[in-house]
Amino acid sequence: MPFAENFPKAPVARAVLCALLCIAAPAAQSQNTAVDPPKQDTHGIVVANMDRSVKPGEDFNEYANGAWMKRTEIPPDRGRIGVFTSLDDLSKKQTAGLIEEAAKSSAPAGSGLRKIAALYNSYMDEAAIEAKGVSPLRPRLDAIAAIRDKRELARALGESLRSDVDALNNTNFHTNNLFGLWVAPGFSDSDHYTAYLLQGGLQLPDREYYLADNDRMRDIRTKYRAHISNILKLAGFTDTDARAGRIFELEHAIAEKHSSLADSEDVHKANNTWKQTDFTAKAPGLDWVEYFRGAGLGKQPSFIVWQPTAFAGESALVASTSLETWKDWLAFHSIETYAGALPKAFDDERFAFFGKVLSGTPEQRPRWQRGVDLVNNLLGDAVGQIYAQRYFPPEAKAELQAMVSNIISSFRKRIDALRWMDPKTKAEAQAKLTTLYVGIGYPETWHDYSAYEVNADDIFGNVWRGSLFQYHRDVARLGLPVDRKEWSMTPQTVNAVNLPLQNALNFPAAILQPPFFDPQAPAAANYGAIGSVIGHEISHTFDTEGSAFDSRGRVRNWWTPADLAHFEASTAKLAAQYDTYKPFPDLSVNGKQTLGENIADVAGISAAYDGYRASLEGKTAPTQDGFSGDQQFFIAFGQNWESKSREAALRRQVMTDPHAPAQFRADTVRNIDAWYSAFDVQPGEKLYLAPPDRVRIW
Ligand SMILES: [Zn+2]
Repeated sequence: MPFAENFPKAPVARAVLCALLCIAAPAAQSQNTAVDPPKQDTHGIVVANMDRSVKPGEDFNEYANGAWMKRTEIPPDRGRIGVFTSLDDLSKKQTAGLIEEAAKSSAPAGSGLRKIAALYNSYMDEAAIEAKGVSPLRPRLDAIAAIRDKRELARALGESLRSDVDALNNTNFHTNNLFGLWVAPGFSDSDHYTAYLLQGGLQLPDREYYLADNDRMRDIRTKYRAHISNILKLAGFTDTDARAGRIFELEHAIAEKHSSLADSEDVHKANNTWKQTDFTAKAPGLDWVEYFRGAGLGKQPSFIVWQPTAFAGESALVASTSLETWKDWLAFHSIETYAGALPKAFDDERFAFFGKVLSGTPEQRPRWQRGVDLVNNLLGDAVGQIYAQRYFPPEAKAELQAMVSNIISSFRKRIDALRWMDPKTKAEAQAKLTTLYVGIGYPETWHDYSAYEVNADDIFGNVWRGSLFQYHRDVARLGLPVDRKEWSMTPQTVNAVNLPLQNALNFPAAILQPPFFDPQAPAAANYGAIGSVIGHEISHTFDTEGSAFDSRGRVRNWWTPADLAHFEASTAKLAAQYDTYKPFPDLSVNGKQTLGENIADVAGISAAYDGYRASLEGKTAPTQDGFSGDQQFFIAFGQNWESKSREAALRRQVMTDPHAPAQFRADTVRNIDAWYSAFDVQPGEKLYLAPPDRVRIW
């Protein structure tokens, strides 16, 4: 699971296409930016961002971030702003500089540098894109128009399969293709790469957008139908309103078959191995032989089917819905996927719906930023290799490694001290800490892009070949031994991630900068900020999801029933705590949907706090602006959650994201005893919890 919500989604492992080309597309809320990086005149907590007139026990988020929230406007080109977007801006500026250098260099043809420059330039050459019009798309649309029967349809659906979903690492459950492939270590055989198939077929972010019975969603649906019609019109289709109506009805029917996000997050529901020969019996309707042949997976003996009922339902719809409707659906989805590589009219139409209507963002981000996103997605490691050399000094790596080992020993002590946990369970938990791979800054090996052809005058082809290149690379790994040190984020990504099937963590260089980490800041601030992030990721190793995986990344129940019962009782308390949070009067946080992340926040801050105390080696921490070491620790944690969202963006996050909104993540402190003494929080204050009501998980 990644540390932060969708917007700073990891480029490399994520859908090649959606993150960039579908600007503000379903899962990719925005890699936005246009604001200055966080101002940091001093090192440590940013006192100027606090509102000290608010009592910490009344509203800790206001206390830590109130002044920042008051003076900060959300820029018109984004749905939200905060620490992550500001750092993402910085990373993007740094990356844009590297791309510019690449363009000027005299690197040999075929080298990573030349590909970076060519890909970026092909995206920026808007005149060439306008001149070509829809002609690059034409052969794809002609091929769809030529489909004569359901067998050929199945083949075409298979050909559209991409490795654009990721159920456990970057947690991206959305693909607009009929299904999505994820290649990762197997649930039972974590030593080899296995094929996972996930539900798909929707353009809107989640089934709820089709099914929820309220005015807001009805309005979105009306505008979405109009959007489908507009896109088809731009591509030269006739009778577009009627086609749009049928496409919408089909997607609505698909949504009815989809599993909910909360169910999709439950790995115990996902471990369904189907032999290729089982599909016809278990999910009749689609011609599976043709489908897998089209996908180049005809020889793949078996798959793990994440949401079996959705596969049965979607497959049946292929049989029961008319060929013409499916062809329109396929054409519409293809256009959406490649709209970013088409003339401005397509780009504008997509933004009008996905940016304005779905995220409430008034303006499109500057093209150069989207160009940087594109390069990060398709050539992420080529850029990352240069980025890491330039922006991540070896001293920073050494200091962070020391913090990581302090926090890991805090976890070890906490596990040993648990009275409720069985010794055998404890031993496996300790073994998980021993085999845990913690990647700091950048990966040990880099992807090789030599088979990816990039041409400076062919953005459509570059994107098309780019997604196929990633797909073929993933398919080629099926059955091969797993590299546990493989990364799932690029160094230039502002995020962090736990990879449960590899028992590994990645902390990319781009998040290891102020305000998260500053080699010159006091330990209190570093442990409160990045230390809590590190603790958060380690804790995923043991949470509802992580506890399903053993020290070798296999899905195996290593908990006794009594341990599990205790764990579930404490986590149910946490889910109930989050259920009470209401960002809007008509919308509550879903405690179950966000549980794994909330557990990680509670456990992360607890372990970071212990690690911090240990780092003092008995000495008193230096004060900053009159704040004690403990106060700095908690304020730094709260300042991780500096964030402002537009209403539409926030509503979308509450409905579709496993992470609770930032304001409530800051309030996690109310579960930590040391917070009460640091700020003298008393009964009667809004965040006060009596000691038995504080959730202690580890
Ligand atoms: Zn997380």
